Amino acid sequence: MRLAGKIALVTGGSLGIGRAIAIRFAREGAMVAISGRGKAALDETAAIIRDQSGEVLAFESDVQHVDQVNALIDGVLHKWGRIDVLVHNAGINAPVPFLEMPLEHWDRHMNVNLRGTFLVSQRVCQEMAKRKLQGSIIFMSSVNGLAAEANLAHYNASKGGMNLLAMTIALELAPLGIRINALCPGFIETRLTKPVIDDAPAIEHYLRSIPMGRVGQPEEIADAALFLASDESRYMTGHCLVVDGGQIVKLS
Ligand code: NAP
Repeated sequence: MRLAGKIALVTGGSLGIGRAIAIRFAREGAMVAISGRGKAALDETAAIIRDQSGEVLAFESDVQHVDQVNALIDGVLHKWGRIDVLVHNAGINAPVPFLEMPLEHWDRHMNVNLRGTFLVSQRVCQEMAKRKLQGSIIFMSSVNGLAAEANLAHYNASKGGMNLLAMTIALELAPLGIRINALCPGFIETRLTKPVIDDAPAIEHYLRSIPMGRVGQPEEIADAALFLASDESRYMTGHCLVVDGGQIVKLS
């Protein structure tokens, strides 16, 4: 088992990519804490993990709010004493053209996607440093943090910010033995992308842009997250790992 004895926190671990990661990590021997806002999805994911004899804690917590982030991390530390692996995965994305984008829409995406990343990762890194842990941090970024897509100025900017934040933390914390990498998925089938998948012309457009000719599955991102969480990636830090069926290398 590749994460035996490790304690992992997966924010946004109740659904989609985060759920697949939490299930995979638990199968690999990690004790897994998951967070999200909706209780029903958290309970469902926790039940799946327990049914497979995994150890799991579930926390209702919104990553935008410092008090809720601190309560989440205090909760994990109180029960399990440390966090070895953080997958900061919670994120949102609702497309709007730039000229029509209300400030509230921009702020909401920045608060969840970028402020949340700062809040969660700073506190977890502080706790890792205090305990002299050789921790691994993974930011769930996106190919949208590396190349632009129309109508997603807010999302692209937040994911680009996450990539540079990962690189900067990597520089500062490498001497402490804490690694931080960003994972950049392409188009993955989840609740987030359901409106596009259900829209025939839109999904045809996406499929034409993906050399492998299909969308990805959350489990395919979980495999990459497992690699970044495990000792197999021990010489990697500050890296943006793209998992996208070849989408980003295509010129047209
Ligand atoms: P999803 O199915 O909508 O799941 C998002 C998860 O994040 C849920 O657990 C959700 O739970 C949680 N979440 C959302 N807002 C939150 C908040 N304010 N505080 C705490 N938790 C929150 O989406 P997904 O596709 O799995 O996306 C997961 C991550 O992958 C996101 O960061 C997304 O940007 C990134 N990503 C996705 C794709 C894709 O194609 N799907 C591609 C590249 C990157 P609640 O709603 O109950 O809070």
